[in-house]
Amino acid sequence: MHRIHWKKDMAIGLFAMLALVVGVWLFWPKEAERLPGVTYEAIHVDPGPMLHLAEVLSSDALEGRGATMPGNDAARGFIRKRFEDAGVEPFLPGGWEQSFTILPKKPEETAGTGVNLVGWVPGDTPRQGPVILVTAHFDHLGIRDGEIYNGADDNASGAAMLTALAEYFVKRRPKHDILFVALDAEEIGLLGARALAFDPEVPMDRVALNINLDMVGRSEVGELYAAGTYHTPALSELVTEIAKSSPVTLLQGHDRPEEGPNDWTLQSDHGVFHQAGIPFLYFGVEDHPGYHHPSDDFEALTLDFYVRAADTLVSIINAADASLPEIFAARRAPAPPPSQTEGTPE
Ligand SMILES: [Zn+2]
Repeated sequence: MHRIHWKKDMAIGLFAMLALVVGVWLFWPKEAERLPGVTYEAIHVDPGPMLHLAEVLSSDALEGRGATMPGNDAARGFIRKRFEDAGVEPFLPGGWEQSFTILPKKPEETAGTGVNLVGWVPGDTPRQGPVILVTAHFDHLGIRDGEIYNGADDNASGAAMLTALAEYFVKRRPKHDILFVALDAEEIGLLGARALAFDPEVPMDRVALNINLDMVGRSEVGELYAAGTYHTPALSELVTEIAKSSPVTLLQGHDRPEEGPNDWTLQSDHGVFHQAGIPFLYFGVEDHPGYHHPSDDFEALTLDFYVRAADTLVSIINAADASLPEIFAARRAPAPPPSQTEGTPE
C-alpha cells in the first residue's frame, strides 16, 4: 500500500519537475532580452501615433500645408499637440513658437508670417554642452491649379517621425540635450531653417549635429540615404556601423559637388546649418513619381519601410549622442550668412 502510494507520489513529482523544466525553457527570456536595457521599447518608436499624424497632416483637409495658409496653421497645431502629449517641452522663453517674416516674392504680394515649433528633451546637464538638432519641415506646396499637393512623403513623413523620435527620447533620456524642431516654409526657400539659425535664443554655437528628416516614408526598394558624411568624414563611420544592423538599407551619398543636381547638400533645411559650419546628416529617399506631385498621398507611403526608417533614426541618434563631443569638434567656420532672397527652394 505504502509502496504504491510512493510510486504515485514519484510520478506526480516527476511530472511536476518536467512541467517546470519545460515552463522555464519556454518562458526564460531569450538572450537579447536578457541584455540590460534591451527591450522592445529600447530600439523602436511607437509607430501608431506616428502613422496617424502622417495621415492627418497629408489629408485633403489641410490643403497641402502651404506656408501662411490655414492648413499650415492646422498642421502646426496637430504637431504641437503630439509634442505635448508625448511630454516634449517647449524650448524658447516664450514657449513653442518662433515666428518670422516671409518677405513677398512679387510686388503685388504682402508679407506673411512663418512659425517654427521648437521643442527639446533635456540631457544630463540641461542647457549646457553640445546639442543635437533634429529638424523636419511641415509645410508643403499647398494648392496649385486647383490640385491639392498633400505631401505625404514630403514632408508629413518627416514631421511625424520627428514627434515619434522626440517621444522615444522623452522615455529614454539622452546624455546631451536634443532640440526637436518642426520647421515652416522650407518649400519657399528654407526660410524656417534660416530663422532658426539666426535666432539669438537658439544656441546654435552649441549645436554639434543637425539631423534633418525630409521624405522618409516612401521607398519601394527599402533604401534610405544618409547625406552629409562627405562633408564630415567623422560621421561616415557612425553611419556605416549603424547600417550593418539597420532594418532598412542605409546608404551614404548625394552630398558631393560633382553630383550636380543629385548633390542634396543645399536642397533641404540642413543646407542652412551646413552653411553655418555645423555637421549634418540628412535622411531621405531618392525622388519617386510622387515627388512634388499631387500623387504624394498617404496611401502611397510604404509604411513598413517608414517605421523601419524611424527605428534606424533611433539608432543613429543614440550613436551620435554617445560620441557628441567628437562630432562637435568637426564643426567648421561658418560661411557668410545668406540673405533670405538667396533661398534654395527644392
Ligand atoms: Zn521637403
